[in-house]
Amino acid sequence: MSTIVITGAGSGIGAATAARLRADGHTVIGVDLRGAEIEADLSKPEERQTAIKAVGKACGGVLDGLVTCAGISGLPGRPASLLASVNYFGTIEIMEGLRPMLAKGTNPSAVAISSNSTTTAPGYPLGLTEACLAGDEAAARIEADKGDSIMAYAATKLAVARWVRHSAITDEWAGNGIRLNAIAPGMIATPMIEEGATDPNLKVQLDMFKDTIALGRAGKPEEVAAFLAFLLSPEAGFFCGSVLFIDGGTDARFRADDFPARWEIPGM
Ligand code: NAD
Repeated sequence: MSTIVITGAGSGIGAATAARLRADGHTVIGVDLRGAEIEADLSKPEERQTAIKAVGKACGGVLDGLVTCAGISGLPGRPASLLASVNYFGTIEIMEGLRPMLAKGTNPSAVAISSNSTTTAPGYPLGLTEACLAGDEAAARIEADKGDSIMAYAATKLAVARWVRHSAITDEWAGNGIRLNAIAPGMIATPMIEEGATDPNLKVQLDMFKDTIALGRAGKPEEVAAFLAFLLSPEAGFFCGSVLFIDGGTDARFRADDFPARWEIPGM
């Protein structure tokens, strides 16, 4: 049985994944603002480091799995810089900080949570994605606050997906036998969506988005948890650097011909 860290384990997808993995007999170390084994505010660099140390103590320096579910959506009045800090830097700093422990694990696997907003939300600020990937959190926060948090969400989640694809194949990850992938959920019925629906304008957008789901309903957190449990398992042993959509068909509805995209090489 494995030892697995879940950030954002207190709610929604993270809580469902923690419950699923525990039911399967694994040891789960949850990290969240509150109500988890390790309480930390992952928007704050110093608390990320405290969380990494606390995980090291809890697992004896050896980890088999990691899922970074902690994240926040855009809301009126919520600063976009908070999304840059939680969704991007709060993901990759935990990933990098726990990587040496994963390297000592058995069949280690790490999964980040991106979003299908990366391919289905038009016009979001790519400058913020690039600022996140450049790695300077203070600069990324300034870039983020040039816009609002609703538009920033997809930009931070694209940065997560791109970071995963670039990092997964490196000596530090694949070279150490650690499978690193991302999932891109569509609308999943969690407290995050309930919170968004409390704003009347956002509710209209969320209802419209829900109507685009080919399967005719929002996903269940347990469905995402089952997919994450598979990706963490040795059965998913050949996944590396993939961004896997689990969205009831929304991406296929809007972008059917955009993926797979032919590799365009001049002259061929
Ligand atoms: P949720 O709000 O139910 O759970 C998110 C968890 O993250 C909460 O427990 C919260 O306390 C924690 N968290 C937030 N800020 C934190 C911080 N600063 N430090 C530590 N923990 C923090 O949301 P969810 O829907 O389960 O979302 C989980 C992940 O899935 C998020 O990254 C979200 O962006 C992503 N996602 C969700 C959906 C969806 O429709 N629900 C779709 C695509 C992607």
